[in-house]
Amino acid sequence: MYLTGDTIAAIATPHGEGGLAVIRVSGPGALDIVSKMWRGKDMTSFSSHTAHLGHLLQEDGGILDQAVVTIFKAPNSFTGEDTVEISVHGSLWIQRQVMNRLAELGARPAGPGEFSRRAFMNGRIDLAQAEAVADLISASSKAAHRLAMTQMSGSFSRKLDSLREQLVYFASMLELELDFSEEDVEFADRAELRKLAVETLDTVRKLADSYSAGRVFKEGVPVTIAGAPNAGKSTLLNRLLEDDKAIVSDIPGTTRDVIEDTREIGGVLFRFFDTAGLRSTDDTVERIGIERAGEHIRRASVVLWLLDATKPLQPQIDELKPYREGLGSEVKNLVLLNKADLVSDMPEIPDGAFLISAKTGKGLEAVMEAMTTAARGGHDIEAELTVTNARHYEALREGAASLDRAIEALDAGLSADLIAQDVRQSLHHLGLVTGAVTTDTLLTTIFQSFCIGK
Ligand code: GDP
Repeated sequence: MYLTGDTIAAIATPHGEGGLAVIRVSGPGALDIVSKMWRGKDMTSFSSHTAHLGHLLQEDGGILDQAVVTIFKAPNSFTGEDTVEISVHGSLWIQRQVMNRLAELGARPAGPGEFSRRAFMNGRIDLAQAEAVADLISASSKAAHRLAMTQMSGSFSRKLDSLREQLVYFASMLELELDFSEEDVEFADRAELRKLAVETLDTVRKLADSYSAGRVFKEGVPVTIAGAPNAGKSTLLNRLLEDDKAIVSDIPGTTRDVIEDTREIGGVLFRFFDTAGLRSTDDTVERIGIERAGEHIRRASVVLWLLDATKPLQPQIDELKPYREGLGSEVKNLVLLNKADLVSDMPEIPDGAFLISAKTGKGLEAVMEAMTTAARGGHDIEAELTVTNARHYEALREGAASLDRAIEALDAGLSADLIAQDVRQSLHHLGLVTGAVTTDTLLTTIFQSFCIGK
């Protein structure tokens, strides 16, 4: 069960030994509790947003550690409550002692995401902003960082609020009409209302559509390297990763399972999958590897089809054809002709193909640029609001569907109460994103996935 009103404590730094560790204490008793284990100036006299050096005491009065406390007073803290952040030396034993002592003095160990949940409950941030903090913590590329920062700053929330305002206006016009339905008047100019609904729907849809780009920016762009055995896939992976992750050998069929690793290129995180060489085989283990390669090709955003430029191209293209068939239009295919260092003249380069050498690195700059462009898919995260969260995407889709029904109802000349019902539904769904509408279960689901101490 979720409680407010008590004082919570958690270690906010990662578990383990470090130079320093930070323990966060929040709640009405924060200052009082910490001051009971503090030797230094009187903590209750400290003003908000100040840091102080002193000593933390053990139960018997002995010194546990020299520490710095930073004071944030309600309502001007992250949680909106009195908060003390204690920086101690990062020994695991010290961290445990501080937590034990805090518990003895009346601070309850916090559950996952409980600080953020309090910040939300106290109106300091909305749900989308709280989720952005979690995204920021896990951001592993420039693009993911940028998206989380934008969402945290509240510009996404402001957009949703303005959309909801439009819908509230829409609903109120319809409801005004209902109040006077006896007289059978139409207060709302239906053509005006339709225009408003279509505009709102358009914005909601655009936001929902941005999710396909937003998701890959946040989670990384899956890139599968596919090709015949010995085409140089493992060499290419190592080159792309600037690492010796994959085993390179002259024996065809060396990469039998999928090797995965990530690298940030041009601000975007790429997830590379090196797969088993595609060829027909009687070897059971190799065949399983090839099936997995097929799965990774289907799941990729970008497939790098690697051909060996020292061999005739057409048979290689024919061999790969079955794997290319049936791929969705969202998959970007790049054809790379490898081992350019071994061929002196290359008479026929297929349209759009890249001539490269995985061994020397020649031609790879252009491939990386093409991958980055493909990943962005024409979506500009600097300029456009981008949805990165599956929950927001679902809510926006549901919101759009309800709004779509409202427009249909308007077009069919249905009565105001029926239209208003769909508009209210839409309002409900959009409200779930920022938490204007929420349930206890929803909050628990969201905050439980956060780390402890956040
Ligand atoms: P995979 O089976 O597709 O993963 O191929 P590997 O990466 O294991 O490479 C097969 C062989 O081709 C190895 O001997 C590599 O050194 C060689 N190779 C790969 N790329 C190049 C290249 O660009 N130039 C040259 N000369 N050899 C390459």
